[in-house]
Amino acid sequence: MNRQRWAVWLGLTAGLCAQAPGDGAAAPSIEREVAAALREIDAARLEQTVRTLVGFGTRHVLSRTDSATEGTGAARRWLREQFAACAAASGGRLEVALQEATVPCTRPGMPKQVPIVNVVATLRGTSDPERVYLVGGHYDSRNSKGEDGQGAAPGAVDDASGTAVALEACRVLATRRLPATVVFVAFDGEEQGLLGSQAHAAQLAAAGAQVDGMLGCDIVGNTRGMDGVRYDRHLRCFSYAPSGNDSNGRSLARAVSFAARRHVADFGVELIFRGDRYGRGGDHRSYFEQGFAAVRLTEPREDFSRQHQNVVERAGAPYGDLPEFADFAYMQNVTRVVVATLMELASAPPPPLVRSAELLRDRYDTAVVFELPPSAADVEFVWRATTAPDWQHVVAASAANLQPGRGNQRRATLPGVCLDDVVVGVRSIAPDGSRSRVATPPEPDRFDQRRDQARGGR
Ligand SMILES: [Zn+2]
Repeated sequence: MNRQRWAVWLGLTAGLCAQAPGDGAAAPSIEREVAAALREIDAARLEQTVRTLVGFGTRHVLSRTDSATEGTGAARRWLREQFAACAAASGGRLEVALQEATVPCTRPGMPKQVPIVNVVATLRGTSDPERVYLVGGHYDSRNSKGEDGQGAAPGAVDDASGTAVALEACRVLATRRLPATVVFVAFDGEEQGLLGSQAHAAQLAAAGAQVDGMLGCDIVGNTRGMDGVRYDRHLRCFSYAPSGNDSNGRSLARAVSFAARRHVADFGVELIFRGDRYGRGGDHRSYFEQGFAAVRLTEPREDFSRQHQNVVERAGAPYGDLPEFADFAYMQNVTRVVVATLMELASAPPPPLVRSAELLRDRYDTAVVFELPPSAADVEFVWRATTAPDWQHVVAASAANLQPGRGNQRRATLPGVCLDDVVVGVRSIAPDGSRSRVATPPEPDRFDQRRDQARGGR
């Protein structure tokens, strides 16, 4: 997105944000709570985490595990201590554990079986602990040679930056009482085929965990584009959709952009409707593959002379992923978006269950039938043009002609909203004003998508 388009985009979304709190009313308490949390996010701590992780030399899965100062073993022991220090301030609600496994690896030059260790900190929810949100970055690193477990691989931006964001989010949230559970993960083995996150997502799926959203933070620390331009006012949010534009992952992506608009000043989220960067992957994919809503957060312009490079100079230009090229003030803003999103979603009730929608043909109004979770104090409706990336309009319950339906179902009528041309959705609101992800009605007909897939789009 060039600067001009970016300015237009910010202007549009600012208009939507202004509709969130009622005019003249006191700000909902979630806004005060999030503002207080965001003030605690510390760029100096993010920098210290990145520099400490870089100081272990390499964090490759095949690097040393028997040293206190070098290699992956030292890195994960240090991370475990940092998460444990957060636990001390959590009143017994934060638990830190290592997930250890030996998993198959198909990367050339690598052993067929690789040991991985994830560092997992779980902040148990106060009233709805079965519902889970996750944030994670990968602490492993690599250099120009993917299988090199000995040579230096600083991995400052890829991905000490994402690991530092998850740790700082944990430190700030551990002292707070959130209704739903939040899990903070430092993943191992991402560079060798998402090994750590696959093991973790599979464990959650096998346990029947109710994962309502996973935020993968990977490459979130560089702001100087290879074009020499500084890009430090937004992040990119990638999301998968099996078909169409209204998957749970896209719903989560819009919740990230909502939280940023509501709580984070002068910093935006660019929605990218693709699972990841072209032909590439990251840890959020492991969760998507288990059927969980997941997104990837990444800086606007990657510097490819840093990632997966040996630390060398070529024709006078520096290569390698070193901390001096990281922007810690930018990482502070990324952490603000992550903390705001997690607080908004973990404080809110779960999304409603939307049963159906229909166009009322005599009036061009839309009726929506839905069930609200018992913890919801209120509900609101949103809609957008089918071609609009994000929600454009909010309809309060008071303007939606709410009526009881069968059982605990309710029916709302959205006046002047023509369902044929738009996507409608519903979100739950807690007494503190926090909002759930938006739930949308089932698409009525998959015929066009089936045919498109059958023809291969050629
Ligand atoms: Zn990475």
